[in-house]
Amino acid sequence: MRHKQIFHQMSPYKPGKQVEEVQKELGLERIVKLASNENPFGYSKKVDQVVKESANHFEIYPDGYATVLREVISKDLNLDMDQIVFGCGSDEVIDIICRVYLEEGTNTIMATPTFPQYKHNALIQGAAIKEVPLLNGYHDLQGMLDAIDQDTRVIWLCSPNNPTGCIINQPSLERFLEVCPEDILVVMDEAYYEYITAADAPDSLSYIHRYPNFIVLRTFSKAYGLAGLRIGFGIAALEVANILNIARGPFNTTKLAQFAAVEAYRDQAFINYSVGETNKNKQVFIDFLDEQGLDYYDSETNFVLIKLPVSGDLLFDYLIQQGFIIRSGEALGMPNTVRITIGEKEDMLEMAHHIADFLKLHAEDDI
Ligand SMILES: *Cc1c(COP(=O)(O)O)cnc(C)c1O
Repeated sequence: MRHKQIFHQMSPYKPGKQVEEVQKELGLERIVKLASNENPFGYSKKVDQVVKESANHFEIYPDGYATVLREVISKDLNLDMDQIVFGCGSDEVIDIICRVYLEEGTNTIMATPTFPQYKHNALIQGAAIKEVPLLNGYHDLQGMLDAIDQDTRVIWLCSPNNPTGCIINQPSLERFLEVCPEDILVVMDEAYYEYITAADAPDSLSYIHRYPNFIVLRTFSKAYGLAGLRIGFGIAALEVANILNIARGPFNTTKLAQFAAVEAYRDQAFINYSVGETNKNKQVFIDFLDEQGLDYYDSETNFVLIKLPVSGDLLFDYLIQQGFIIRSGEALGMPNTVRITIGEKEDMLEMAHHIADFLKLHAEDDI
């Protein structure tokens, strides 16, 4: 078959091992997964209720416009309903953006390392990739502006950045948008928006009114705890949103996902609770890292990227034996680091003990 050449250099997404698989292999009673930044507190109880009541009539197509959800979000955020584009996760919105704006002969600029789906989808569209290294975990915005040329169509800003957790602050974003040519789409992926506490974080949505080339991505997969239902969205000026809505599939979000997202969005008390608990647990964990003399990147998210004196694979292997699945930074483009999702209090304390033991083992190695 004569598929695009680029597919010779790519492979299908390989998910981390499933919990059940690891549990069986290692004969462990319990596994704590802290690898994918999922919400350990689950999701709003109200979601279960509405799903129970409305999980029927699967023979009927969903509302392709996601009217109720669109109304709820646009009212809350003071938007025109048509400024929103829903996707099967924000992953799909990323794909739609690439299909609309990128093709052979164009290029796209992103940080490295950052969320891999920008590059993955851009490559499939035949675009050239310009990757600008992070500066101590932060986007090098001047470097990204310097990388712009005639063929640049899309710039990706991941804030907070996955895998480092660092945000782009308000003055930096403002200056970036001021300088960036208006015919380049600037994507601000805020998958961890709800976890941000920094005082200098930008009110990203306020820039949509000023910059017609700016789009913000949000998701129900992280703080809202609905990763398994696959729903996320983009918010942009009408011109951009309209075009993205043309390019998306007509029924790209399911009935269940729409129902659940409406209830989850309305229950901001749950978001406040789980974000509050997460940030408390994060502070305790960070205090532990400080005690151990381990350095880490500034994080405005529900995960921390920790710098290690050894390969991240070693700590990964050690912790999995104890029933904790984390992400080694080796595969994330960050050697000698691990990315750990902030979990429940007791689990974090237990894992901290294991990390301390691991560090002792390796300190003895060094002597
Ligand atoms: C998890 C994540 C997403 C993907 O979210 P979905 O809505 O589940 O597709 C997008 N961007 C970043 C930076 C993420 O970490």
